[in-house]
Amino acid sequence: MTHEHLIACHECDLLLRPPELEPGGVARCPRCGATLFKSAHRSQERALAFTVSAIILLLLANFFPIMGLQIGGSYVSCTLSSAALMLYHEGMQELGILVLITTVIVPTVQMLIMLYVLLPLSLGYLPPRIPDMLRMLNILRPWSMVEVFMLGILVSLTKLAAMATVIPGIALWSFAVLMVLMTAAMSSFNPRQIWLQLPLENP
Ligand SMILES: [Zn+2]
Repeated sequence: MTHEHLIACHECDLLLRPPELEPGGVARCPRCGATLFKSAHRSQERALAFTVSAIILLLLANFFPIMGLQIGGSYVSCTLSSAALMLYHEGMQELGILVLITTVIVPTVQMLIMLYVLLPLSLGYLPPRIPDMLRMLNILRPWSMVEVFMLGILVSLTKLAAMATVIPGIALWSFAVLMVLMTAAMSSFNPRQIWLQLPLENP
């Protein structure tokens, strides 16, 4: 019995047999030129390294102040969760919850799932329920909005700077780096390679 692993181009739906790649190579669709997948050469180790770093930065971003404001003689600072809580108590419940979900909860769950999948694989064994985890990652992807949040903060910083002295906090810098690290982790993460490592359930 042969297993024909055909893949479809996500741009033009051309069905093709995945080409063999040399380390570091990229497979492109012969019809439309879209990137199909990249060689898995060391991509799992890379994704794991980015994921671990992102988790450390998530901690920094959540437990240190995002920014401090100096108005006259008084100084106030807030962390991300205290800002979300403030929105909640100021009558913007939906916004507060949305900020918390898109900038704290979803990115944390995403990175923990990637750690759950990648760490055991790098040690040479398959953790249970990988297919569920990979599906979960796909569902969560559109809900992770660290970049949007960062943009929002920068806009409000420039506005606030006219009224008060704004002191950027550790969390703000952490968010900037986190944004880059999460993108790097996601782009080195190669679900196809992981699917290929799974035993076939329905032979
Ligand atoms: Zn194509």
